[in-house]
Amino acid sequence: MFQGVVDESNVALDWFPEASGRSWVHIVSHAHMDHLRGLDVDSFQGSIHCSWVTGSLLSIRKNIPSKHLTLHALREPFFLECTYRGTLIRVSCEFVDANHCPGAVMVLLEFPEHTVLYTGDFRYHPNMFGTQSLLRTRSIDVLIFDSTFFHPKVKFPSKEKSAGLLIDLIERKSTETPIFFSCEMLGSEEMLLVAAQHFGEKFFLHDSIHLQPSQRRLQLECLPSLAPFVSENPQSRFVIGSVCRNSCERSDYLCLRPSALFFAQIMIRSKSPESVEPMYVSRDAKFARILFSMHCDYVELRKFINEIAPKKLVPMVLPPGFKDEISFLQLLREHYPSKLSSSLLTSNQLVPKKESCDCSHKSLFVSVCAISLE
Ligand SMILES: [Zn+2]
Ligand SMILES: [Zn+2]
Repeated sequence: MFQGVVDESNVALDWFPEASGRSWVHIVSHAHMDHLRGLDVDSFQGSIHCSWVTGSLLSIRKNIPSKHLTLHALREPFFLECTYRGTLIRVSCEFVDANHCPGAVMVLLEFPEHTVLYTGDFRYHPNMFGTQSLLRTRSIDVLIFDSTFFHPKVKFPSKEKSAGLLIDLIERKSTETPIFFSCEMLGSEEMLLVAAQHFGEKFFLHDSIHLQPSQRRLQLECLPSLAPFVSENPQSRFVIGSVCRNSCERSDYLCLRPSALFFAQIMIRSKSPESVEPMYVSRDAKFARILFSMHCDYVELRKFINEIAPKKLVPMVLPPGFKDEISFLQLLREHYPSKLSSSLLTSNQLVPKKESCDCSHKSLFVSVCAISLE
């Protein structure tokens, strides 16, 4: 299982290892909190490489000062000064759209002897392999992939289909019925945008568990396509946030919650997962969950891996439904017997060693970093 550091290098992906006398090159694939593990904003002195949108979101959500952010556009290669096998080298790096949440990217790293693709969290889309696509034209040796739902029983509708379900549900209600979108997660905005455009409504931002309304407003400003659909009017029919007390008294309202894990768990437990409905509506029809996934399902992951055809595979997380890492790796090994190098699957090899052979390059590396910060 991937531990956060590219093998034999000091490139940390979506992870902030504790200070261990070693310098790190930090890349953050997107702004979800579980991809900022170990980051202590107050003591952080380094620089984070990320996309422009992720950079803006990190400033808003984590108060990371812009001097600690190095921003890159999609499909614009840049060089990283990093260590590999104890030597300071320049590695070409390029971001590819991950179809996950706003700003989310995959990271392509070209080391001298091999190429690594780190998917971060992603949702497969056929466009990823269009004729000009980097993923199609570049040969990839090591694929570190988002294995969140790598389970044979998990099948998701496309994001577009999920948005269609959402529209159907709203259309069943009268045009007066208040609609609450319980979407805390960065990434559900795609669904909101479809609903706003379809019904010609604007959203009022109500409460949020994780973000202050002001933060949420700023967050929306980073998402230019959604910003025109934000309203200042508390009487708006569409509200982002959970059902508020006043509305609970109303005879009619609809609270919608997009969710993937909830449905995946039902599919995994079910004897006939294909018959699991992609939405759950409460008996009083006031609350509905809609299957909406920002991650690949099983078939999509297999398609993606086959198209990439890497030499080595490294999963990022243990999917639901597996009792432990061993049983999951067994399944992977059955599918891809030659691609699971045992060295890549040994956690110890991936955990950065406290004492590393690149210490002699540390001072040089720090000075390179300092230059890029100015
Ligand atoms: Zn994510
Ligand atoms: Zn994640």
